[in-house]
Amino acid sequence: MNRRETTAVPSPYFREEHEALRAQLRRFVESEIKPHGEEWEKQGFVPRDVLRRMGELGFLGIRYPAGYGGSEMDTLGSVVLAEELGRSTFGGTAITVLVHTDMASVHLANAGTPEQKARLMPEIIAGRAICAVAVTEPEAGSDVKGIRTTARRDGDTYVLNGAKMFITNGVHADLYFVAAKTSADARPSQSVSMFLVEKGTPGFRVSRALDKHGWRSSDTAELVFEDCRIPTENLLGGEGQGFYAIMRNFQNERTVIGAMAMGEAQAALELTLDYVTTRKTFGTTLFEKQAIRQRLAMLAAKVEAGRQLVYSAAWLDAQGVDCTREVSMAKAYCGELVNEVMYTCVQFHGGMGFMRESAIERMSRDARVQSIGGGATEVMLEEVAKRLTR
Ligand SMILES: Cc1cc2nc3c(=O)[nH]c(=O)nc-3n(C[C@H](O)[C@H](O)[C@H](O)COP(=O)(O)OP(=O)(O)OC[C@H]3O[C@@H](n4cnc5c(N)ncnc54)[C@H](O)[C@@H]3O)c2cc1C
Repeated sequence: MNRRETTAVPSPYFREEHEALRAQLRRFVESEIKPHGEEWEKQGFVPRDVLRRMGELGFLGIRYPAGYGGSEMDTLGSVVLAEELGRSTFGGTAITVLVHTDMASVHLANAGTPEQKARLMPEIIAGRAICAVAVTEPEAGSDVKGIRTTARRDGDTYVLNGAKMFITNGVHADLYFVAAKTSADARPSQSVSMFLVEKGTPGFRVSRALDKHGWRSSDTAELVFEDCRIPTENLLGGEGQGFYAIMRNFQNERTVIGAMAMGEAQAALELTLDYVTTRKTFGTTLFEKQAIRQRLAMLAAKVEAGRQLVYSAAWLDAQGVDCTREVSMAKAYCGELVNEVMYTCVQFHGGMGFMRESAIERMSRDARVQSIGGGATEVMLEEVAKRLTR
């Protein structure tokens, strides 16, 4: 059907480089992700050659220095990547890429030594080394200060002990950015440090791959560290700096999750419009029923609002402005909204919306975690509330 393309709407936020990236990504999603996404859902991970291909096309180094092979774009570049991957309808594939580019490798880019960056950033950007970030534990998710994994200094090494839970790319990654406590006495915010742990380090293992409700093409793992010894230079950014590094990276992570959610919501609305404009009940198409088209119109308005909130938060971030309030609003709003959209879109697909063979069924499962992962809605609302009265 003839609909106005979302991104054809002129936007003050995006420049030519963003639009070129969007067009290139959209072609890649159509030709390289959508035809194979179902297969990856079944096997439970995205094949490495696909990630390497994305590296070759420059999609994995959007924010990184040209010297390592990156293209030095701003926060809006990450938003374009996340939105277009979200539009693929395969949330698991989108999150595989976005954890690598915008949530995990950022720790090395921000705090690695020059030697580590020179050795690893080109590999990361080329998609030859895949990254994971391991903060959450069986006993601590929202409450980052509550982690129990320890890193004890011993000569020129640190010795890690503990477990990590729900780690995206956890099974197939090469590089893990791991949060651990380096002090039992320091204030909780100054007791956490970040470490680089490479796959194959003795004492580090993937204890199990987790079976999930959605995001099934993303591999998720539980990790174990048992007297895992790493060199002191693998401490990223200094002892006790980990909590601040995690909080800083959360801004980007949450903006990206918001953008991904709005890409998913937009794709769901488009699929549903296609369905309701052809499906007939009681002699007319579903779209001809005011109750249906008005609900879709309201959802389209909300998705537009969510998208603009993400864009403006990303723009503020790109200007170097503290936008914790706006980013938290965007994460809370978009994480809830994508679920509202999926619920209604499944409803309007009728019985077909409940069938494994329909994209909307998969998308509704994928969306569920958007209000939980990377900062649950309630936690985001606390961040907003704290800043309402200042
Ligand atoms: C598929 C998937 C992938 C993930 N990938 C990663 C990853 O790559 N790396 C990583 O480190 N982590 C990852 N996570 C972890 C994710 O970030 C956490 O699940 C999330 O932060 C919530 O933590 P929790 O599960 O421990 O829930 P809890 O912290 O136990 O919270 C449970 C629920 O309680 C509510 N709640 C929590 N705190 C408050 C509060 N202060 N006020 C009111 N209500 C509250 C929320 O509704 C929350 O959902 C992933 C999770 C999933 C499901």
